[in-house]
Amino acid sequence: MLTGRKYRAYLDVWQADYAEQIGAVCRAVWNTALEQRRSYRRRGAFIGYRNQARELAEAKVEHPWLRTVPAHCLQQTLMDLDRACRTYSPWKVNWRARVGRHFWSPSFRFPDGKRIRVKRIGRKWGLAKLPKMGWIRFRWSRPLGGTIRSATLKRDGSQWHISFLVETGEPERSVSLERGRVGIDRGIVQAVATSDGRFFDRAFLTPGERQRLLRLERQCHRCRPGSRRREAVKAKIRTIRRRERDRRADFCGQTAATVVRGNALVVLEALNTRGMTASAKGTMEQPGTNVAAKSALNRKILDKGWRMFELACRNKARHAGTAVLTVNPAYTSQTCPNSGCGHVHPDNRKSQAKFVCTACGHHEHADTVGAKNVLARGHSGHRAWRPRDAPVCEAPTSGNPQGITAPGPRPRNPRL
Ligand SMILES: [Zn+2]
Repeated sequence: MLTGRKYRAYLDVWQADYAEQIGAVCRAVWNTALEQRRSYRRRGAFIGYRNQARELAEAKVEHPWLRTVPAHCLQQTLMDLDRACRTYSPWKVNWRARVGRHFWSPSFRFPDGKRIRVKRIGRKWGLAKLPKMGWIRFRWSRPLGGTIRSATLKRDGSQWHISFLVETGEPERSVSLERGRVGIDRGIVQAVATSDGRFFDRAFLTPGERQRLLRLERQCHRCRPGSRRREAVKAKIRTIRRRERDRRADFCGQTAATVVRGNALVVLEALNTRGMTASAKGTMEQPGTNVAAKSALNRKILDKGWRMFELACRNKARHAGTAVLTVNPAYTSQTCPNSGCGHVHPDNRKSQAKFVCTACGHHEHADTVGAKNVLARGHSGHRAWRPRDAPVCEAPTSGNPQGITAPGPRPRNPRL
């Protein structure tokens, strides 16, 4: 099974400088190649990876700065662009910018596993040798366990990380149906509620950190744009933001492991997070209404990391031999989960947390009700749309609880 292993890398001054340089050249190659693809398409023509790679080789003769970085990294950039443009369209693939809306953090891949050497130099430290970069020190925070296929260097703010794609040699677990099944409802008040009545949630910033963040943000607005002071404040903000992000990733990973463990089937509601959190301001033609409330809701949705949780579930499922299924979530919060009732009405949901069926009087926590209905739909083999990248898995069928077929919204293409 292929799996990823990520470590914090500590580059020396020369390496950090060189890594920035590689990132900058990769960015230039990406943007030039994307512009080339677009201009071909404007003329009704097409250019693919092969021709672009050939032209890159020719450009190296004319521009020596292209030769200063590892050739493999540039090829990988063109391959990534090729895949992105084939999956979506050149018009939907974003530029890679140094600052601003299309900000891209330097990240590049060394695809030849045979040329990468790793050795452990202590209990906590390891060294990895990458072509042209030399030996890179990294924190040995988890076992590597397998043969290396490729390595990626990525910068996150001021920190560098090295991740290896590793072939562990263990076979992909097949799904065994003896174990349990669970439905998941993702929410704002409780990040994750399960059909067996468990709740998972945590705050990713302490009240003190939240206050400090607010103060720093105000301070940042008072600073003159481009000033050294402003940069210093922004660096402090980034540190807090990164901490928040790391905790969210931790929470998603740990919760996913808890939920997936011991279950043969995990049913999630298919969420179109990008569509749900589309700009509150609206567009020039269609300005939004309730902008402040909507943008606050957007922040909360994104804050909980719903999408990240789903990805974590799919990842853990590969190791545990669990099927992950998504179903259409329409009306799951308004349907009575009581077998034999199944009454659907908006009045069933009295408040955010309270669910009382107006037909049979069944009462339960609203999030648990949502999770139960999601599970029921997974059981009934409810035809659900899936995001394009999701693996297709068959739902084990048993019984036929209420399966409501309301047409769900089509997911939009996530932007790259
Ligand atoms: Zn009922």
